[in-house]
Amino acid sequence: MGVGLAAAIGATPALAHAKRSPVRPEDEKFMRLAIDEAAKGDFPFGAVIVHDGKVFSTGRNLGVTNNDPTAHGEMVAIRRFVADNPAKDLKGATLYTSGEPCPMCMGAIVWCGMGRVVFAASIEQLAKRLGQIMITSRAVAEAAPFLTVEITGGVLAPEALALFDKK
Ligand SMILES: [Zn+2]
Repeated sequence: MGVGLAAAIGATPALAHAKRSPVRPEDEKFMRLAIDEAAKGDFPFGAVIVHDGKVFSTGRNLGVTNNDPTAHGEMVAIRRFVADNPAKDLKGATLYTSGEPCPMCMGAIVWCGMGRVVFAASIEQLAKRLGQIMITSRAVAEAAPFLTVEITGGVLAPEALALFDKK
């Protein structure tokens, strides 16, 4: 599970700045938390930030609630993290998100220096449910020469996508 779906981010070997990373044993546990957040969002997207095996912040889409179209789950989780923790601690953190980060969120993840991103549904899969900017998280990471981001895709993707059927 997850291995075949990881192909969603591309079957070519990892490039310098977007390293394809295998699914780790803890990934499903944290992704399930992100999906729980997503279930409560204005749109079904949720994220958690994990550092040293511990959840430091969570976020869900609050675009309508906050009257802020930039309040994607990842952005909310990052803002909550830095409200309580030094931003430099994001460098060793992993962000789990129910949907592949859009270019805005992936840009933020890069600026935060986060080392790893794990997503469930890919942008390609999400685009079948609602409008997406068709630039992958991998493409954004590859365009950043100063950082390497490990990316794992497809963890619990069917569960993340099923949330769209409940809305
Ligand atoms: Zn986003």
